[in-house]
Amino acid sequence: MPNKFFEELDMPWSGVVIFLDIDGTLRPDGDQEMDQEVLNKLAELKAKNEVHLISNKGNNIKKPSREAAKGVDMAGKKVIVIGDKFLTDGLFAKNIGAEFIKIKRKVSGKEPLFVKFTYLVDDFISVILWK
Ligand SMILES: [Mg+2]
Repeated sequence: MPNKFFEELDMPWSGVVIFLDIDGTLRPDGDQEMDQEVLNKLAELKAKNEVHLISNKGNNIKKPSREAAKGVDMAGKKVIVIGDKFLTDGLFAKNIGAEFIKIKRKVSGKEPLFVKFTYLVDDFISVILWK
């Protein structure tokens, strides 16, 4: 299982296209605010790379569909997906030929039951499929 939160990642990249998940990655699902450390890390990442925040909430086109990357020019570039879920972010990475970095999920404990359930399923499947 991943043992680093987003803000704890080493980010030596520059000129990389990065698709960054929001819920569970930058803040717990259902929260509105992000911690200052997260905002700092995000600014650091944005300074040197092309960062696309991509959430499945309220979007018609959802990860893992490669259509979620529509409009982003990835030709000849290194592409990285950072997220907390294998079944959305991990498969999305696979579908667009990107590297996947699974971070340690942020949880508040106040997530709706169905969100907790999807976490349970995702963790179970990623243990089986994702080494
Ligand atoms: Mg997420």
